Amino acid sequence: MSRIERSQQMALVRSKNTKPEMLVRRLVHGMGYRYRLHQADLPGRPDLVFRSQRKVVFIHGCFWHGHKCKLGRMPKSRLEYWKPKIKGNKERDARTLRRLRSMRWRALVLWECQLKDLDAVSRLISDKICGQPELRRPRCYAQHGHCRLTSTLAQRCQTWQSKS
Ligand code: ZN
Repeated sequence: MSRIERSQQMALVRSKNTKPEMLVRRLVHGMGYRYRLHQADLPGRPDLVFRSQRKVVFIHGCFWHGHKCKLGRMPKSRLEYWKPKIKGNKERDARTLRRLRSMRWRALVLWECQLKDLDAVSRLISDKICGQPELRRPRCYAQHGHCRLTSTLAQRCQTWQSKS
């Protein structure tokens, strides 16, 4: 990857409403849960905010936030530039999570590389964020018997709900 390509990629990663984030937003929306975006009054401006549950979701790009995975690998060039930068980001992320915890908010961090398995992501969101989802969407669960809604299934659920 050339330097220009790399910096273009970084610009993409830095901006809000990036592709991984949109993917998660669509998924969560499809599951029937409502949330707010980038609430500035919370540390780290979390990507998704579930106010009544006091829970937030961060969607982290693996490179930019220094994930230990294939996508998070350091570039071979300009290491002296990237290394402190990524380290700084990781430290800031850790601070953010500590601050949220001290404010009695709970955070779920989703990594870009996790989004390959959206079924697993929706399970995580049901378990960690929404808790007892069967209380919130009784009809769907009566119909489907579980809370692992993929977006297609959620659409079917909505159709089914609107008919009843
Ligand atoms: Zn990763």
